[in-house]
Amino acid sequence: MIDMYRNVKVIIHGGAGSALQDRGGLEAVRQDLHRMVDQIYQRAQAGAKAMDCVVYGCQLLEDAPRFNAGYGSVLQSDGQVRMSAALMDGQAQRLSGVINVSRVAHPIDLAAHLQSSDDRVLSDVGSMELARELGLPLFDPITDLRLREWMQERANHFQRSMAGVVAEAADPHARRGTIGVVVRDENGHLAVGTSTGGKGLERIGRVSDSAMPAGTYANGHAAVSCTGIGEDIIDECLAARLVIRISDGMAPEVALAKSFAEATANQRDFGAIGLTQGGDILWGKTSDVLLAAYHTGTTLGDTLDQPQGTQTGRISA
Ligand code: ASP
Repeated sequence: MIDMYRNVKVIIHGGAGSALQDRGGLEAVRQDLHRMVDQIYQRAQAGAKAMDCVVYGCQLLEDAPRFNAGYGSVLQSDGQVRMSAALMDGQAQRLSGVINVSRVAHPIDLAAHLQSSDDRVLSDVGSMELARELGLPLFDPITDLRLREWMQERANHFQRSMAGVVAEAADPHARRGTIGVVVRDENGHLAVGTSTGGKGLERIGRVSDSAMPAGTYANGHAAVSCTGIGEDIIDECLAARLVIRISDGMAPEVALAKSFAEATANQRDFGAIGLTQGGDILWGKTSDVLLAAYHTGTTLGDTLDQPQGTQTGRISA
């Protein structure tokens, strides 16, 4: 007899970047990621559709202040938060998203609403107007910690070019990265979502990769969410590159190895997570760390102890 629940697969990420020096911080991140990947898995196992599970998972991660999405997003150069999010339905091969939205708790909800709209990716003013139309309550995503970090940068005359969203920090609640969720539901349908506060300290109007096919992409064969330096992700068109290679028949581990070897040669700094229609769990990184956790249908695992530098992994179905 086929065990239908074994069909459900989930992988999530909470960013990629420099090494976490503080071991306590690492364990706290691991606990958060394991708890959330399990919550998403339970929902999928109870019969929820991949798209609904992805939205739910993104909301959980957007609510967690340690991650750079929703509440706890990093501040841009002018001291404001502008968030971006995208959702892609693999079965319908349809992407929707918002770019540089402010004052909402869950940017992924706007992306979800836009799935059925004629105009599917909205930028700042348009996304704010949509939030108003939907009657979403105004929400201030700035935490005291993020404000203190930004004020420290201002006191240092903005020496750094970005916030170092995954960079080491003595405080385990400090800087963590963008979030992403990929789910294969019990019907074998794939969906992916990504949500971010951006790089931090960027100039006003900078557009993240997260709401582009470079950062978030899915079809019936595979689904991928990326994190890291958005400009690097855009230049490699990483999510679409991986998905299309797999769709065209390249073995998933070969697609990962080839894409990350090219990225390493081009000195890119990023990571990616994904699933295939066949149920393979995929991840890869060129950065020091990738904060990702997955549920195979029987066990939980993560990428937190991987060595620094380029690594790829495939947990086969
Ligand atoms: N990719 C995001 C951006 O560049 C940042 C991140 O993934 O942490 O906006």
